[in-house]
Amino acid sequence: MNIYLDYAATTPVDESVFEYMKPYLTERFGNPSSVHYHGKNPKVIVEEAREEIAFFLGVKPKEIFFTGCGTESNNTAIKGLAFANLGERKNHIITDSIEHPAVLETVQYLGKFGFYITVIKPDKFGFVSPDVIDTYIADNTLLVSVMHANNELGTLNDIKSISEICRRKKVYFHSDTVQSVGKTELNLKDSGVHFASLSAHKIYGPKGVGVLYISEEVEVDKIDKLIHGGSQERNMRGGTENVAGIAGLRKAVSILKSDMNSDIENSRILKEHFIKNLTSHYGENVIINSPSVNSLDNIINISFNPYSLSVPEGMLPLMLDLRGISVSGGSACSSGSLKPSKVLTEIIKDERTVLSSIRISTGRYSKIEDMDALLSALKDIVKKI
Ligand code: PLP
Repeated sequence: MNIYLDYAATTPVDESVFEYMKPYLTERFGNPSSVHYHGKNPKVIVEEAREEIAFFLGVKPKEIFFTGCGTESNNTAIKGLAFANLGERKNHIITDSIEHPAVLETVQYLGKFGFYITVIKPDKFGFVSPDVIDTYIADNTLLVSVMHANNELGTLNDIKSISEICRRKKVYFHSDTVQSVGKTELNLKDSGVHFASLSAHKIYGPKGVGVLYISEEVEVDKIDKLIHGGSQERNMRGGTENVAGIAGLRKAVSILKSDMNSDIENSRILKEHFIKNLTSHYGENVIINSPSVNSLDNIINISFNPYSLSVPEGMLPLMLDLRGISVSGGSACSSGSLKPSKVLTEIIKDERTVLSSIRISTGRYSKIEDMDALLSALKDIVKKI
């Protein structure tokens, strides 16, 4: 048995994405910056990809910048804006405590350069309140960074309301949309964000390609670049483009246009089936950490009550792995020891409960039988005392 229920960590490359990428690794191998014949095809595909991705996100091609991953997109937006404003009056950044480290660590790093950082606490489902953000914005606030969908909980923040507040107060707004693109309807222009980050490997594309959206309202020559040494991507990112990866991302996005709704419906059915059966077996001894509304359908985060059930604390993903099922847990292995998840610690607090949690994330190829296998493995591992 080999069941993959960790699609929020990464997705397999769709077969047709792989086929689409191949020529850009072989006969169309040229450098898009070359003026000769071999450079033309790669240049064309990079620009076509930019157009198709922009169209899918409801924005203009010139607002799309290719990067190496979602982490790089977050770093570029946050550091790029901050470094361009170094020594200026606006030196305050607001974020929240359950951002992905690609945002949280980047913002905290800026503290070394004299930026003041406010880290807001979300509510018990991971929602960041627009009103709370409003109260923290001051005259010197430069940037607010709040993710759209949380990667551990699936919680969907109201980024439109946050954008409205930021625009009214003339503050830039960045949103990490790595987990939400392709998993829920998202039009970046309508959302009002100034910057958004996404990643190809979360949507059946290859690893090593990301996108940073920068609204045309932001003057890009006033954003410092992260990687120097070339004028690619309108001088925003030095380095030869990952042409095959960008082609793969283009194909992945074109598949989303036709398959996104059925992907979401599939995940919705699986989530409903799983939660119904789980709660009918464990009753109040299981807690659903993901919110029931304003949440992604493909992410289900649960905790077993370690005080009323026998749970192998911190070991659940490993025990499931032994049974051929891949999920992720309420802990991460760091320097050889199990550390409780920072996100869940913020939400749940009790360390034993955090260590008794798992994140199940479904995707395009997940089936009811996968959920049934997981249910039966859990019943085998987590028993009443
Ligand atoms: N942001 C979020 C919310 C994520 O879930 C991830 C990956 O898990 C990232 C950023 C980082 O993306 P990448 O792996 O492309 O660097």
